[in-house]
Amino acid sequence: MILPGFEYRKAASVAEAIAFYNDFQGKARYLAGGTDLMPLLKYRLSTPAAVVDLKGIQELGAISADHGWLTIGANVTLFDLKNDPVVKEYFPVLCQSLEATSCETLQMRGTIGGNLLQDTRCIEYNKTMEWRTARGFCLKMGGETCNVVPHSRICLSNYCSDNALSLIALSAEVSLAGPEGDKTTGLEKIFSGCGSRVFALGPGEILTRIRIPMEKSRGVYEKLRVRNSIDYPLAAVAVAMRQNGARVCVGGVGPAPRVYDLTGTDAGSVRDGAQKAYTDARAVPNSTLSPTYRRKMVRALFRRAVNKILSEGK
Ligand SMILES: Cc1cc2nc3c(=O)[nH]c(=O)nc-3n(C[C@H](O)[C@H](O)[C@H](O)COP(=O)(O)OP(=O)(O)OC[C@H]3O[C@@H](n4cnc5c(N)ncnc54)[C@H](O)[C@@H]3O)c2cc1C
Repeated sequence: MILPGFEYRKAASVAEAIAFYNDFQGKARYLAGGTDLMPLLKYRLSTPAAVVDLKGIQELGAISADHGWLTIGANVTLFDLKNDPVVKEYFPVLCQSLEATSCETLQMRGTIGGNLLQDTRCIEYNKTMEWRTARGFCLKMGGETCNVVPHSRICLSNYCSDNALSLIALSAEVSLAGPEGDKTTGLEKIFSGCGSRVFALGPGEILTRIRIPMEKSRGVYEKLRVRNSIDYPLAAVAVAMRQNGARVCVGGVGPAPRVYDLTGTDAGSVRDGAQKAYTDARAVPNSTLSPTYRRKMVRALFRRAVNKILSEGK
């Protein structure tokens, strides 16, 4: 499939990338590894006037541990992050979600920033223009109705980053730089909850770095996918356990991850947490597995992940 025409600009700094973005009056897209963006362009699901390449920005490429935080530049590849000694020692849940992300070829190209900011997916959306035109444009394509849930008022396409779940379970923060200035916020706060506008980011904002509090944790990542060699999650659960308790993040069902702070680790609390996640899961018929099965798997994976951690700690 052939790419559409667009201007290509390679930025050497965050400020230059924002200036390039402004040159195109908001009609530009940022590019990191391109593994998510390029298929969207080829399918004409995005038709920017320009693509601003962030890969040449040195400051986005480093991992450092100081002042009680592990700081990860947005351009660090999934593969390098997976093999970082601090990540291996302190954050096992992140190692496991990185290992479960697609395959190593993709991990060597895809960046953590691009992974967090990947678009949501739907069986009715990630299709060619001919297919979509025949079926009729849905909410995510600017149409009037959802092709999966006809009366839905919001788009329920799936957010599929494995690593957002483990980073949220680890209470990670993200730093953003944009035309309106810089800010830092909890990772879970960047989601809008609607699949047609996945992120609550301002125009032209760049994710610069991710920070995780440097406290050793125990962790488990559980993922449901069709092919274990490569596929996106169709339900997934990350759990990180630290001194102050267990934080669970559920994803792969609906447009945003959901976070649960467990009040206790007795059998009743785990069961109640898993049941709440089951009730909250917004699985709809937009993937190759049935919504009923995916919701039930949310509950099963939740219990499996928490019980694994609890049994490891004995
Ligand atoms: C075959 C296949 C299988 C996959 N399986 C999985 C899987 O199992 N689990 C999973 O989690 N993911 C999966 N993915 C998604 C993959 O992980 C992402 O495509 C990849 O991590 C994105 O990183 P990238 O650097 O290539 O991002 P890009 O494609 O370059 O960018 C992705 C998006 O983020 C934006 N962006 C990138 N960097 C920044 C930044 N610093 N600031 C602001 N915006 C930015 C881009 O504009 C774009 O919208 C799969 C992808 C493919 C193609």
